[in-house]
Amino acid sequence: MNNNSSLSHRDKEPENGTCYIVGTPIGNLNDISQRALNILKNVSLIACEDTRQTKKILNKFVISNNLTSFNKHNSPKKIPGLVKELKEGKSIAIVSDAGMPGICDPGEDFTKIVKAEGIDVICIPGACAAITALVSSGLPSSSFVFEGFLPKKKIDRDKILIEISKYEKTTIIYESPHRLKKLLNELYEVCGGDREIIVARELTKKFEEHIGYKIDEVIKFFEDKEVIGEITIVVKGIDKKISIVNEADLKKDLKELINAGLSLSAASKYLAKKNGLKKTIIYNLN
Ligand code: SAM
Repeated sequence: MNNNSSLSHRDKEPENGTCYIVGTPIGNLNDISQRALNILKNVSLIACEDTRQTKKILNKFVISNNLTSFNKHNSPKKIPGLVKELKEGKSIAIVSDAGMPGICDPGEDFTKIVKAEGIDVICIPGACAAITALVSSGLPSSSFVFEGFLPKKKIDRDKILIEISKYEKTTIIYESPHRLKKLLNELYEVCGGDREIIVARELTKKFEEHIGYKIDEVIKFFEDKEVIGEITIVVKGIDKKISIVNEADLKKDLKELINAGLSLSAASKYLAKKNGLKKTIIYNLN
């Protein structure tokens, strides 16, 4: 597509019978794009996670339009009506409270259903906390794993924490401020205190902060502080060479100790001490 055709496409927006997934700021309202404002101003209807949050954006940019609430509680009931309106030719914008809809926010299910109905879905890209934290972390960012919020159930949570400790790619995690310290301790348990980590707090806002460098230093930083604000965590992946060499050697040592009569727990404890690692890391190699 050349520049002219892409401009004419944009000039016609919003198009009838089209669903727009619109990214909105994650704190700084000036991060909204001209294109997003045009869509919000001119669609037939805006389906928002919380109408009060969306009104803040609309008021700032002196936009008034029809709003309807669309969140995880009411979306199953609302989706058929919205699909009907799209089929009748209306244009609908989906927005969440902040950032990209569908990224740990409502929008995912709706997009799937709308596409299955043969309706056009166009994303108007905007801020996303995960990407903002990643690119400002200084950690490898061309290839990464996004975990969103970790599961709360212990068994599922432990499983994913172990997986994260073994990823070679950078991992991005969302966490609420009151659970940050618990998560940092869990990451310490599985990754060790030396792993590089950046806690990005209040991105794009007045008190934006990037706290790093190693897990034990970050734990220390927050030790006597109340954690407030929005938090995204970026964890460096394990070094490929270390992961291959160490893991193979450690597995061999573990097997030998168990064959010699030690319990898994005792063998893990011994090897953890010897290699300066957390016991759970060795334990889970078995
Ligand atoms: N859809 C959003 C996006 O595109 O980033 C994410 C929504 S999710 C419900 C909210 C979580 O995103 C927060 O708990 C926090 O982990 C992260 N987050 C959102 N805004 C942030 C900010 N300004 N700074 C740091 N993290 C943020």
